[in-house]
Amino acid sequence: MLEKPPLTTGLNVAELEKRLRRYLLTPKQLESLGYPTESPLHRGKAVICNPFPPYESVRDARCSESGSNGSGSDEMEDDGTLTDRNVQSNLRRCARCSRGFFVLRDKYLTTERCVYHYGKPFRGSYSCCQAPEGSAGCVSAKLHVWTGVELGVNSPLNGYVVTKPRKMPPEGYGVYAIDCEMCYTTGGLELCKVSVVAMNGVVIYDKYVKPDNTIVDYNTRFSGITHKHFHNNSSVKSLKEVHEDLMEFISADTILIGHALENDLKALKIIHGTVVDTSVTFPHHFGLPYRRSLRSLMKSILQRDIQTSCHDSVQDAVACVELMLFRLACDFHHFPKITV
Ligand SMILES: [Zn+2]
Ligand SMILES: [Zn+2]
Repeated sequence: MLEKPPLTTGLNVAELEKRLRRYLLTPKQLESLGYPTESPLHRGKAVICNPFPPYESVRDARCSESGSNGSGSDEMEDDGTLTDRNVQSNLRRCARCSRGFFVLRDKYLTTERCVYHYGKPFRGSYSCCQAPEGSAGCVSAKLHVWTGVELGVNSPLNGYVVTKPRKMPPEGYGVYAIDCEMCYTTGGLELCKVSVVAMNGVVIYDKYVKPDNTIVDYNTRFSGITHKHFHNNSSVKSLKEVHEDLMEFISADTILIGHALENDLKALKIIHGTVVDTSVTFPHHFGLPYRRSLRSLMKSILQRDIQTSCHDSVQDAVACVELMLFRLACDFHHFPKITV
């Protein structure tokens, strides 16, 4: 039986930072896990090499043909008509049911309902309804949705900020855990809430964010977000405001901790290379591309239930802090090795 070490380290922030640096992802890991990185050709713009298609994609051919998904490009004719070229570039694949659909700029051309399973297939059946794999979906939504990035190379991507190098402040560069909630818009998965937590569990930043594009689906089952969060809420931020706020205390050397943090950094549109990813620190025993969920890590390592109803970004960020404190306690205080 694994003895549970304490979750407080008694370390000052500078020492904590130093110890956490041994878990940082390498540039190669960042790239291969699909983290946004700065384009070597287009300064300030992002490249994402997305290795995790939820479904077999029909868009492989398109990617290899153009060498890019060109989300920054505009291939529609001025009069809005479909040409062979823009048919290709406006074809999306639904992240829920895998059907193809078309979005032209901010307008859905395909308006059929999305019938899907919200659970994952596991041992031949879906976790949501236990129906056999391949069977018709158990829930439906008004429209299909897409993630905003496609399988393979996505570049150059606009609207990103790159964290800047800064002279080390006396108290260190800082360590924070980040978790975001996203909803589906015409532009893909977009940020609608961001939570930043310090290593002592204190919430540093927790804001709702209004997506730039039209919201198609609040993704409430997973995000916990509904239209009420944006209605008559004067504290809702824009992504630009979030960038300004976060860049005040996050520099290039600040350690950001998260679970599969590439998804959060994509939604935040932040290019940052100093990352601890708990899905890598606590790997799946089959190795990549398999990754343990945050919920299952918390259950098996800390014997705690999280995400019992829907996701709470503060709770998830705190969970990442606790997992890393546990890891430090094990690795630096000679507790028994963690088996996950
Ligand atoms: Zn189902
Ligand atoms: Zn769909």
